Amino acid sequence: MSKYLIRPHHMLCMQFFEGKGYSDGFVASMAAIKEKLEKEDPQVEIVEGTDDVCKNCPHNMSGACENEDSVRQHDKRVYDKVIETVGNSAKWSSITKAIRENIIDSGKMRETCGKCQWSDICFKN
Ligand code: SF4
Repeated sequence: MSKYLIRPHHMLCMQFFEGKGYSDGFVASMAAIKEKLEKEDPQVEIVEGTDDVCKNCPHNMSGACENEDSVRQHDKRVYDKVIETVGNSAKWSSITKAIRENIIDSGKMRETCGKCQWSDICFKN
């Protein structure tokens, strides 16, 4: 079982992913990662900058997100709400529990997601 590198805001995006994204390759990769996270419950290291989800993204410019300034703000808003519970590395099931309890179930989605272009999908679900 491999270890996954995930940046903070993707821990929240994964909860609502329903097969939409920046390109077919990106969607296939994200779907495969989500399936493995949920089936295998691997250890996940929470990282700064591009992660395993970013690997197949058309906005990934040689290892740097072309929207890095904006996505870092998404990362910080998620990170600040879960870091005390999960630290910088945890099983995916523990991360999911923290994301649900500290953000989704406690009504903090709007303040956390800000103006994310995908947020309509998440709020619908
Ligand atoms: S837009 Fe940026 S943060 Fe989002 S998946 Fe692509 S490279 Fe990663």
